[in-house]
Amino acid sequence: MLNLKPDKVFYEPASLNYELGKKLREKFSDIPWIPVKSHNNIEELRTQPNTEFARMKKHLIVGVRKSLKYTPNHKVSDFLVPYTSSGCSAMCLYCYLVCNYNKCSYLRLFVNREEMLYKIIKTAEEANRDLTFEIGSNSDLVLENTITQNLEWTIQNFAKARKGFITFPTKFDMIQPLLSLGHQGKAIMRMSVNPEEIIRKIELGTSPLKKRIKAINDMCEAGYKVGILIAPVVLVENWERLYTELLEQLAAELTEKTKSQLFIEVIFMTYSYVHRAINTEAFPRSPDLFDKSLMTGRGRGKYWYRDEVRFKGEEFLREQIAKKLGGVPIIYVV
Ligand code: SF4
Repeated sequence: MLNLKPDKVFYEPASLNYELGKKLREKFSDIPWIPVKSHNNIEELRTQPNTEFARMKKHLIVGVRKSLKYTPNHKVSDFLVPYTSSGCSAMCLYCYLVCNYNKCSYLRLFVNREEMLYKIIKTAEEANRDLTFEIGSNSDLVLENTITQNLEWTIQNFAKARKGFITFPTKFDMIQPLLSLGHQGKAIMRMSVNPEEIIRKIELGTSPLKKRIKAINDMCEAGYKVGILIAPVVLVENWERLYTELLEQLAAELTEKTKSQLFIEVIFMTYSYVHRAINTEAFPRSPDLFDKSLMTGRGRGKYWYRDEVRFKGEEFLREQIAKKLGGVPIIYVV
């Protein structure tokens, strides 16, 4: 498991005016704290070579989130909302955050959590129907929670809202502190899964599959709504066998209770020129996820699986999901 003890903290001095900022200062008082003007532009880090990517992931950035703008979404939520962190300490080779933050995709914590949560509650309560807010689109909140306890705080406080749901995806199993919370069924956890071989070689620093499956069952038993993201689907050489085995393992290890209320999202991997540049230099021994025979350009340096390849993959997965997890709805495949 990932060691979440950072080696140094870069911080905006204003963050120490917040309760969480003060707590973090105390918690990590034994490592250097380096003041920065803006969490968004730390020149000392931005100018590092790609080879420093993994070392930079050990840093923690603490700041105040300024933009609270919501992005409409039409998959499992109504809005993607900026929340208590962005970036991550893990190092999945395809991580979508690298597209936004390049090599500066280390974990940034934002201390103005009250402001962010109260805006969500206000929006939820003013709506004429139940809205769902995706609070984890910029980081992994289960991982973040091990440092800040922000997810515990959020679930407990959002439970008091008269309407709406919050949802978050994760690749981690540290859900123990969430199990006894009074969540009122208003939080939906979506566990991202992949074959264990892909987790080990590509999702560096995340929880093993077996532990993720146990976490889904435990959350469901604790009354949470749960979903599964088969994401991202990576078409490695032996993908058909690996994903068949994954679905067999899910069928065998998910409890009947979990299966009866589960839903599935399927997302195929996208990749980019930036990922390639960083991974080649930072992880020279890791597999190259760019496969020229299967992928095509998608504009702005991005790659995705060619249509016919993706369709074949989708058809295969839909068939296997129906066979192994018959009855579990697939919300979407992209
Ligand atoms: S766990 Fe999620 S946020 Fe963290 S590196 Fe992997 S894909 Fe990115």
